[in-house]
Amino acid sequence: MADLVAAELRRSITVTMKHLSASSLMPASQGNLSARDRDTGNVVITPHAYPYEDMTPDDLVVLDPDGEQIGGRLDPSYDALLHVGVYKARPEVFAVLHTEPPYVNAFGALGRDILPVTTTGLKSANGTIPIMPFRHRRDEAFTTEMLEVMGDSHGVVWQNHGLLVVADTVENAAERTIGIEFNAQVMHLALRAGEPQTLERVGADMIVA
Ligand SMILES: [Zn+2]
Repeated sequence: MADLVAAELRRSITVTMKHLSASSLMPASQGNLSARDRDTGNVVITPHAYPYEDMTPDDLVVLDPDGEQIGGRLDPSYDALLHVGVYKARPEVFAVLHTEPPYVNAFGALGRDILPVTTTGLKSANGTIPIMPFRHRRDEAFTTEMLEVMGDSHGVVWQNHGLLVVADTVENAAERTIGIEFNAQVMHLALRAGEPQTLERVGADMIVA
């Protein structure tokens, strides 16, 4: 029988979440990460409320493209159906990562969009990271609204909660998340001294906006 998902995806998810957790991009067992297998279309995702330091590739949960659990002994992340909804709506996306980085969250709490003030930020975010107003329930309507707010950006902030980033690979989702948090930190520092200049992309070039 063919594997439900590639072993490499399981390894990437486990290694990435241990690294991001150790880098303080989310507290304790918060956050979640999934990938879509390019051959089977199945989604492999971190389990609900499970410590990252203990997590092994076998602890991950596998869902079919409609979100039914077809592998793993643990419950999937609370946001599993949100991940599945993103994959259904965005065929080019193969990794979805939710973290709770402090500088990103500070701008989220203020309801203030995160502007590209660094080249890393512009590349990571593909422009501005918008803030989605706080919603208690993360249901199907939440996913629809979130994708609308996100638009062409690689990420969106859930106000008073955290960041969601999409990418073509697990590694790129992690790199974008780290870049977006770095950019938010620089924006915070710059705002303490004045009004930062921002960047924008014009074709393949970056220019000062
Ligand atoms: Zn969260």
